[in-house]
Amino acid sequence: MDSSYDVIVVGAGPAGLAAAKSAVDHGAKVLVIEDHAAIGTPVQCGESLALSSIEELGLKPDPSFVANDDVRIIRMYSPNKKKIELIMPEGQKTPGVILERKMFEKLLAVKIANSGAHIYTKTPAIGVLKDNGFVTGIKLKHIDEIREVKSRVVIAADGPSSNVAKWAGMEIYSDIKKFASCAQFQMANVNIDPKISEIYLGKVAPGGGFWILPKQKGFANVGLGIAGNDPKTALAYLREFVEKDERLRNGSIIEFNVGPVPVGGVVKKMVDNGIMVVGDAARQVNPATGGGMKFGIRAGIIAGEVAASAAKNGDCSAKFLKAYEKQWNKEFARRFKAFEIFKELIEEMPDEKLDKLCEQIGTREVPGDIDSQTDLGSMGLRMIWPVLRNYPKIVLKLGKFLPSLR
Ligand SMILES: Cc1cc2nc3c(=O)[nH]c(=O)nc-3n(C[C@H](O)[C@H](O)[C@H](O)COP(=O)(O)OP(=O)(O)OC[C@H]3O[C@@H](n4cnc5c(N)ncnc54)[C@H](O)[C@@H]3O)c2cc1C
Repeated sequence: MDSSYDVIVVGAGPAGLAAAKSAVDHGAKVLVIEDHAAIGTPVQCGESLALSSIEELGLKPDPSFVANDDVRIIRMYSPNKKKIELIMPEGQKTPGVILERKMFEKLLAVKIANSGAHIYTKTPAIGVLKDNGFVTGIKLKHIDEIREVKSRVVIAADGPSSNVAKWAGMEIYSDIKKFASCAQFQMANVNIDPKISEIYLGKVAPGGGFWILPKQKGFANVGLGIAGNDPKTALAYLREFVEKDERLRNGSIIEFNVGPVPVGGVVKKMVDNGIMVVGDAARQVNPATGGGMKFGIRAGIIAGEVAASAAKNGDCSAKFLKAYEKQWNKEFARRFKAFEIFKELIEEMPDEKLDKLCEQIGTREVPGDIDSQTDLGSMGLRMIWPVLRNYPKIVLKLGKFLPSLR
């Protein structure tokens, strides 16, 4: 490890790795530090990702890191089990995949290291260096050794429990009410159709949703997110569901994980002098679906480029770095607002009304013309819009945001 870099990325999750790749590709000298002993583990994720994000990272989806690229049906159940199905016709490319995230991140890290970035695991940031109102580096612990490493720009990609931006004096919320609490079993020997992703709403996962995401035949991520202030644990809900479902009851649990997801909206300020915040650390998670990888990866790609350019120009002020925040907001702010409103409208809807809405939506075929930038949440919302249009309150609050859903 050298004593100074153009860019130090803290956290080697999808957002941090995307930032590192982009900064290296734009000519910066980059250090990535990761707290865990291995990149990609533990996986705290349902592993569902838009294909476009993989392509944006310069990777071609292949079986070494894609577990399932043939989910044809997204099946959603209302509180009283009314069913919606969004069907992808055979022969049409699916817009999303279920990853083998451990391999995805490891392969990406190797690619980035081969491009010249320095990557160190078992190396947590333990503080930021500051000088004259600028973040100027990171204090870190490399296995058993404490070091101070200088940088022009720090990119905080340290996930939902982020500290780096807070150490720098930035406002990053940690209020439990703004987080979903998640638990997940990775289950083998379950009787699950590998072509169908399932989502359940209602009391099985209050304030969130329950998912079954198939990785292969008989192998699936089974989990849920609930409101962060629910007095019952996410694990308790997970156990209840699994025990009641005869397809899952006798399955084996290959992995278990729990984790928070920030669903309370994106932070207002993503940059300050010498520092940028990306991914879950910046709360860039779809507030309705809890999906964050696509938005964190895009944030990383934009931030890495801006950071490299800032280092090259010798201007790492908040004013210069703000180009990242502006671009991210341009691409996603209105979309996130739409999902925030959609979530509120659904949450305030009585169960019977939600059942009726789901009945009206029924089964729909995914149009053939979805472009490669489409995310699954936006695709779903656009597809059910013809039905939502019959609800005046929804039209009034959500209608103007529809064009931003891609
Ligand atoms: C159960 C569950 C299911 C989910 N399912 C999906 C899904 O299907 N699809 C989807 O898109 N999203 C999903 N999400 C959300 C998704 O996992 C996150 O949005 C995504 O991982 C965010 O990426 P990130 O790089 O910002 O943060 P992370 O992936 O959390 O990575 C942050 C990294 O920073 C490291 N770190 C933290 N502190 C330090 C430090 N001080 N020094 C050095 N390193 C540090 C951490 O060890 C970690 O590796 C799910 C989340 C959960 C909990």
